[in-house]
Amino acid sequence: MDIYFYNTLTKNKEVFKPEEPGRVRMYSCGPTVYKDATIGNMRTNIFQDILRRVLRYNGYELKHAMNITDVGHLVSDADEGEDKMIKSAREMKKSPMDIAQHYTNLFFDDLKMLNIETPEIVCRATDHIEDMIEYVKRLIKRGYAYETSTAIYFDVSKLDEYGILSGIKLDDQKAGARVKVDTEKRNPYDFAVWIKAPENHLMKWDSPWGLSYPGWHIECSAMGQKYLGKTFDIHTGGIDLIPTHHENEIAQSKGAYGTIPAKYWMHGEYLLVNGRKMSKSIGNVYLLKDIVDKGYDPLVFRLFLYSSSYRIKINFTWEAIDSNMKALIKLREAYQKHLNGTEDISDETINELEEKFHKAINDDLNMPLAMSVVWDTIKKPVKSIKIAKLLKKFDTVLALDIDKVEKNKASEIPKEIIALAEERKKARQNKNWAESDRIRDEITSKGYLINDNKDGYNITKS
Ligand code: AMP
Ligand code: ZN
Repeated sequence: MDIYFYNTLTKNKEVFKPEEPGRVRMYSCGPTVYKDATIGNMRTNIFQDILRRVLRYNGYELKHAMNITDVGHLVSDADEGEDKMIKSAREMKKSPMDIAQHYTNLFFDDLKMLNIETPEIVCRATDHIEDMIEYVKRLIKRGYAYETSTAIYFDVSKLDEYGILSGIKLDDQKAGARVKVDTEKRNPYDFAVWIKAPENHLMKWDSPWGLSYPGWHIECSAMGQKYLGKTFDIHTGGIDLIPTHHENEIAQSKGAYGTIPAKYWMHGEYLLVNGRKMSKSIGNVYLLKDIVDKGYDPLVFRLFLYSSSYRIKINFTWEAIDSNMKALIKLREAYQKHLNGTEDISDETINELEEKFHKAINDDLNMPLAMSVVWDTIKKPVKSIKIAKLLKKFDTVLALDIDKVEKNKASEIPKEIIALAEERKKARQNKNWAESDRIRDEITSKGYLINDNKDGYNITKS
């Protein structure tokens, strides 16, 4: 069955054809490990994981590379500001290496909790400095990069076209509108591929241009080329990477090898929280830990995301998480019923459902449609192991642990207990600690445990 993907490069939904039959090479821009990953970051990672799973559902073998950026990502995309790693290290009074290791570990913990597979290749920027230096040398040799007193810049005017992914037109640019004017730069859109380190800079390496460090974009170009070749099949990332990071990766690859590195460019849209962009100042930044601390199974976040296409913004609310948790429990309970079912269902019906599901996921990862097939499947009045087997097959894409046996059912916490918890919350807001403790005891005596967290409380059966 054909697979269709929306390609940011052509702005069309296209039939997917990998360079090598049966094998897909893809690259995903990974995290900059200077802070906790948010559920927004995780949305992008889940989109990439669904893509992997759909490709494998279609029988493809995968070679998927993801970078870990632990140097060179500056606070501003305009080659300005401090390195994010160094800023975080300074603020937390730790070494950049310690910061990188700490947040890399937390990132992979989140991936594990969300059933996000680790790509075949995970490559850390600081382990590939030599590869990046070779790449920069090649750009200079081919006339696409030049040295100034502060950096090696890519000369965008040397390209036949810059801006093919995002539609930026060089002619339209006003000097300094996006990139601060550096008098040594030949064109305002020129960007740093390599940066000379000021004295006392914490992360720097010996290079033909003195002690210096890589620019963020060169990292992905060099590691992508090293592990996947000059051209590969799919390049993914969040939508915010299109206008600068990915545009510059394309520029570098054209300069070094005359090629656009990937044929298909796929981008995940943003996750909003209560209708707004996540932001510390609004106080609506959530981590996966916040979902877990409220007592939810982390996979509820995956199910929640399946209510929308990866190309459409989705709005995170606790109400949505709550209703999805009930749905997840229902799904798993239904699976168990079918697993123990002794009735028969025709192979024709099973094949029809499978085909519908397959068609949905192959249509640019249409998860809302795929989920509607899943619900049609579980709702079959016949209880049959054949249905359970089919659901298990669907779960190779959904990754919802459909065969997990539910113990602590959130849906079964009685209304009376929830009412007491709400009463206690009010008492706490009023700093009435005696009343709060009294209600806690009452909840405990009724067989439930209540734990407080920064967003409220979490109730479990004792
Ligand atoms: P940041 O932590 O902001 O550097 O983001 C790392 C990557 O995660 C970004 O390049 C985006 O692709 C993705 N990302 C960040 N915030 C969100 C969000 N709210 N929704 C979806 N993806 C996001
Ligand atoms: Zn990248």
